[in-house]
Amino acid sequence: MIKGIAILGSTGSIGVSTLDVVARHPDQFRVVALTARSRWQALLAQCIQFRPEIAVIGDTSVAQALMRGLREAKCPTEVLVGNAGLDAAATLPSAHIVMAAIVGAAGLLSTLAAARAGRRVLLANKEALVMAGHLLLDAVAAHGAELLPIDSEHNAIFQCLPAGPTGRTTRGVHRIWLTASGGPFLRVPADQLAAVTPEQACAHPRWAMGQKISVDSATLMNKGLELIEASLLFAMPVTAIEVVVHPQSIVHSLVQYVDGSTLAQLGHPDMRIPIAHALGFPDRLLSGVASLDLLKLGALQFEAPDRIKFPCLGLAEEAARCGGTSPAVLNAANEVAVAAFLAGRVNFTGIAPVISEVLERVGSRAVHSIEDVLEADNVARQVAHERVVVRGSRSA
Ligand code: NAD
Ligand code: MG
Repeated sequence: MIKGIAILGSTGSIGVSTLDVVARHPDQFRVVALTARSRWQALLAQCIQFRPEIAVIGDTSVAQALMRGLREAKCPTEVLVGNAGLDAAATLPSAHIVMAAIVGAAGLLSTLAAARAGRRVLLANKEALVMAGHLLLDAVAAHGAELLPIDSEHNAIFQCLPAGPTGRTTRGVHRIWLTASGGPFLRVPADQLAAVTPEQACAHPRWAMGQKISVDSATLMNKGLELIEASLLFAMPVTAIEVVVHPQSIVHSLVQYVDGSTLAQLGHPDMRIPIAHALGFPDRLLSGVASLDLLKLGALQFEAPDRIKFPCLGLAEEAARCGGTSPAVLNAANEVAVAAFLAGRVNFTGIAPVISEVLERVGSRAVHSIEDVLEADNVARQVAHERVVVRGSRSA
């Protein structure tokens, strides 16, 4: 049977890699929905190539241009807009698989909608899980959905864990090692970090990714978010998950068992590998990525992360310890701080203090419903904007 796939965030780095893999298997997959925030020309080109049932554009001001382009190309794709459109894409009856690849909190509700619709959800949008935590996992369980990790580390861990009745089990697992590339500033002295530019922060040495996750990789917040993500996905305490810097990004994470065995997944740093794994699971698909040539690999290094130079990792650990709304507050503060850094309004070294101040001021509440999460996100954003203004005027 040919499976329908909806790609939320199809014009982004993960979206484009997903289409690359899907295009290699026309006998197995059919693209039924594509979505983008504002890049309508890129979305139009994707629609002309893949002819989905619906295309969703976030920015209403460009919807007409997209519709005109589709008409001219005689492409029958229907255009929907905004959050209602995203919800429709996430729950489209013909979509067996939903790739959740919108960046940040903007992807939360559509990811949740796909889980509630009982889909196979390929989770790239880690922020959704960090924010909603058990709400998302409970929705997956209650509606018979599947949640397969796309984040390379989590996909690696998934591959190293034994199958259980409802996914993977951690029976016999002693510890998980989450690998981190260390980002572009791994070897930059701490006293030079205040002066680094957004261009430098986005120039990741190993992975080509969207801007937000690139900055998160440079601050190590990405690894902090991933620590929370791993703890939730695999029901392991954060204390049983260790972050290790591995600059080559060849070993994508490791699982250690009580008997002294360590299993790892290795591959070139190319997201098409985890994407193909999750698309085909439990079968293996060609991804377009070559296998490793062990004779050409050279040395693989592992070292401890520097938590003083990169305080974001510790902030994420603290938010995980506090639980409740804290991870959502952490995520919202980080999104605001990263956007301010990219806009030149705070220094690179101003990102962590903004987040720390927001965590302290907003505090933590229990999560009973998605409204609790959205409220925490909203309050944290307001406080973060205030802290950005205070910091910006200090450094001006
Ligand atoms: P990106 O910035 O390249 O793409 C983001 C996509 O989301 C685009 O299609 C954009 O149009 C859409 N989008 C952004 N804001 C939106 C909004 N407000 N409403 C609707 N759509 C919106 O990002 P990316 O690098 O592809 O990352 C996507 C997700 O995957 C992130 O959560 C990231 O952490 C995760 N991830 C990415 C990589 C990677 O290699 N790029 C690796 C692991 C995890
Ligand atoms: Mg990752």
